[in-house]
Amino acid sequence: MKQKIPIRVVQIISRFPSTMLQDAINDAPWVQRLSTMRRPLSITSESVLVGALERILLGRRISVSDGVKLYNEASLSGLSALADMIKRSRHGGQIFFNENLHVNTTNICTLACRFCAFRRGSRHSEAYALSPDDFISRIEPFSESIDEVHAVGGLHPMWTVDDYANLFGKVKNRFPKISIKSLTAVEVKHIASRSGISTRRALQILRESGLDSLPGGGAEILVDSVRDRICRGKETSREYLEIHGEAHELGIPTNCTMLFGTVETIEERMTHLQLLREQQDKTGGFQCFVPYPFLPDKTRLPEANIPSSDEVIRMIAISRIMLDNIPHLKAYRMNIGDHLATVAILSGADDIDGTVGREEIMHEAGSRVRTDYNRDQMALLIESTGQIAVKRNTDYSYAMEYRTNVNNIRMELPIAEHG
Ligand code: SF4
Repeated sequence: MKQKIPIRVVQIISRFPSTMLQDAINDAPWVQRLSTMRRPLSITSESVLVGALERILLGRRISVSDGVKLYNEASLSGLSALADMIKRSRHGGQIFFNENLHVNTTNICTLACRFCAFRRGSRHSEAYALSPDDFISRIEPFSESIDEVHAVGGLHPMWTVDDYANLFGKVKNRFPKISIKSLTAVEVKHIASRSGISTRRALQILRESGLDSLPGGGAEILVDSVRDRICRGKETSREYLEIHGEAHELGIPTNCTMLFGTVETIEERMTHLQLLREQQDKTGGFQCFVPYPFLPDKTRLPEANIPSSDEVIRMIAISRIMLDNIPHLKAYRMNIGDHLATVAILSGADDIDGTVGREEIMHEAGSRVRTDYNRDQMALLIESTGQIAVKRNTDYSYAMEYRTNVNNIRMELPIAEHG
């Protein structure tokens, strides 16, 4: 029997803490802590990094042009060091993870985004749509260990808000302690439209039936000219932000994402970050930002500028530096692989994707990352970077240090998974 040592509750965070809001940034405790931290040579030797740090300490924001300059001019080691300082000023040496399960509701989709390897037409031999019983049977084997089910899928041509309300109600009834994180903004838009109601009303109904949070997928790049090239027909940038804002106003926390490395420019990536930051100023419900690069297998974007590993870490670091009002940043290991995820949690990320159980969307596009880790293996992955594993629930309102007994656990990390 493995020895597991949950040590103590280390952090309790209220749902939408005031530190997420812009008016608190000048006086935010993390900025105060940042001002007292020793600056490594990798930062002090580069004026562009010193300038960025000084701006933050003065409570000023890193603009789109500042972000582009950082991306183009700063060294990778310096950027990582600055992002790591900011991460440590917020979370010390803690790295969060959760025990979750991904279940995709359907791969049938009325759209055909060019970066998507997951969707199928309704007559395709691999098309599927889970019934509530199918969905519940997927959760059953994991129900004693997980505290969150992450469920997204395609835009099913027949499903309405009632179908999801029925699904969430049944799942909640069967597993009352499991948090339901489900539906991207475009799914909300789609089922609201199919039901003839507003997205706000759809979110109200879904919340009442058991929906706890939104995962944030589908942001891609929040510049409509880019969206028109890679995901025509999807919600507009404004709609993505509005739907998340409505969720926040209804007390539903959400994550936000960025798919980078398709056809966008560096400036458009920084514009994306700025738009998320502005939305967060208004409604304050983004709890975690999840950036991930495009994976090309089985997709239809031959002109994509697929980022190198260096560029992935550069983007993660700049995200931490610019997003001064979103508390958490996730290393999405399903996409970038375990090795790069461990670099990411030394370069600004404070959260790493969880146990997952099963994953289709990234694996269809080329990911070969393992999906069968338990909590000990997650903790060991984090500890391998010299940091402290903290097991959390969906909305970070509960978090506990989690240490492994390394003598009893052997984990071999697969090599070079980044697609
Ligand atoms: S990304 Fe989502 S909306 Fe776009 S084709 Fe794939 S499943 Fe459909």
